[in-house]
Amino acid sequence: MDGSTPKKHVCIVGAGISGLRCADVLLSHGFEVTILEARDRIGGRICQSDQLGYTVDIGPNWIHAWTDDSKEPHPIYTLAMATNTPLHHWNNKQLIFDSNGNSLSAELTERLSTLVWQIIEMAFQQSEEAHLNGSSHTIPAEDSLYDFIRRKAEELVTNEKERGLLLQMSEMFGAYVGVPVWRQSLRFAWMEECCGGEEMFVSSNYSAILARAAKPALDSPNCHIQLNTLVTSVVTHKQRLPNQQVKISTATGSTLEFDEVIMTTPLGWLKKHHKSVFSPALPDRLTSAISSLSLSNLEKVFITFPIAFWSQQTTNSVPQNNPPGESASPCYMNWLTPSYPDSLPTNPNSWPQEIWDLSSFSPPNNYSTILFYLYGDCSKHIVKLIHNKSSAEKLALLKEFFKPYYSRLPGYDEERTECQPKAILATEWCMDELSGYGSYCNFQVGIEEADKDVLAFREGVPEKRLWFCGEHAAPFEECGTVAGAYLSGEAVARKVVDVYR
Ligand SMILES: Cc1cc2nc3c(=O)[nH]c(=O)nc-3n(C[C@H](O)[C@H](O)[C@H](O)COP(=O)(O)OP(=O)(O)OC[C@H]3O[C@@H](n4cnc5c(N)ncnc54)[C@H](O)[C@@H]3O)c2cc1C
Repeated sequence: MDGSTPKKHVCIVGAGISGLRCADVLLSHGFEVTILEARDRIGGRICQSDQLGYTVDIGPNWIHAWTDDSKEPHPIYTLAMATNTPLHHWNNKQLIFDSNGNSLSAELTERLSTLVWQIIEMAFQQSEEAHLNGSSHTIPAEDSLYDFIRRKAEELVTNEKERGLLLQMSEMFGAYVGVPVWRQSLRFAWMEECCGGEEMFVSSNYSAILARAAKPALDSPNCHIQLNTLVTSVVTHKQRLPNQQVKISTATGSTLEFDEVIMTTPLGWLKKHHKSVFSPALPDRLTSAISSLSLSNLEKVFITFPIAFWSQQTTNSVPQNNPPGESASPCYMNWLTPSYPDSLPTNPNSWPQEIWDLSSFSPPNNYSTILFYLYGDCSKHIVKLIHNKSSAEKLALLKEFFKPYYSRLPGYDEERTECQPKAILATEWCMDELSGYGSYCNFQVGIEEADKDVLAFREGVPEKRLWFCGEHAAPFEECGTVAGAYLSGEAVARKVVDVYR
């Protein structure tokens, strides 16, 4: 736009990372921007809590580095570097417990876990090749990643017991995608390829990264951020004609008009509200994408102890010759299909449990905390258990559920107060209307055209001055991530800029 014409006014619905990045790009091209955000804060799913006595991320913690070196620098890694945000690179030591609660040997753990990832890589590759040569439809829509792993395990692992263990170990993929591995579509496994690459963990929290991403919007006189503003209706024209405006209504009864509207509201929110919010209705290609893409349920439970008793000693199953500066303890622990007398009363479905050891971070972020990731039905069960309960009740219920696992950590002693949880924090994303009652999008068995669904979001409805971005409209292999959401905001802003070029 040149300086002589009035600025075009764009509304961004939602001040998560995608909306903030979108605002940044639009502002730098001379647009006026209004961000309408329903919460009383910016950041959306990037969010922290002080409930443990120090600040932790209740949303994202990981930065999934690119698996493809030819890509541009990773935007979130770049922001982390620019803000001196400390990143943790995990050692690859693991402690795995079998369904009887006995730890596997280091040799077996290493061998099977390497093989699981190799098989998952094969699945990524097979589905990607099919995508690239246009033969995706030859992979049945009902085939899951787990089906693929099972077939490969039959082929590659002759020992029946080890094959069973490998299949149980493959369930850990659920914590990446937020649903059990048998729900993950094989046809679109390639769209999850960011899982399992070089993974860094933000060992402080995401707040500096968020603040840096938000700065252009917060500082600009051409950007107006309205918090506590829930958008309830979006009225567009049937076709793009000069000087039309899109009309937005909010829960407080105000009506606002804009030249363009960009929706960053999460997929789950669109699933629930698109029919009542958009008038006229969204085109079929979008309503079909909204119903076909799925939303996962990932929840986090942090348990803090007086000391990190588990890292004070190592077990026989953990190799002792550590490179200098590397923690002796395994950073990742997994309880496969727990079926112990003490776990079955609270976990009769034997949902596997896994933790990351946050005490292995460098000071000052090395708190004596373990972080459980829950997904699928297990996550819903835990949230249902604690929702609307008092803090004391929550603590008691969570201790009861997780004790069969943390009590099997090395160094645990029932009698020692150091081994009793000091504080527990459990997220409740599946109760959060503004995150769409879930964590992020994924591609589950049955989906026919996940790539086209994501493309439909990216294309938006330009003829109605209506656009979409967010993690569900991200570059294919970054869907569901902070980086993907950020890039989707950037991409949609560029499209709007192009309209006025
Ligand atoms: C538990 C959990 C763990 C995760 N872990 C990781 C990780 O380790 N690494 C990673 O890369 N990603 C992770 N993610 C995913 C990542 O958080 C998201 O992909 C990303 O933050 C989404 O950004 P967004 O801008 O698309 O959406 P959001 O951040 O959800 O922003 C959308 C905004 O719209 C607002 N809104 C909704 N409805 C309305 C309305 N009607 N009116 C006005 N405003 C509205 C919301 O309040 C919100 O602020 C995790 C997510 C969760 C929940």
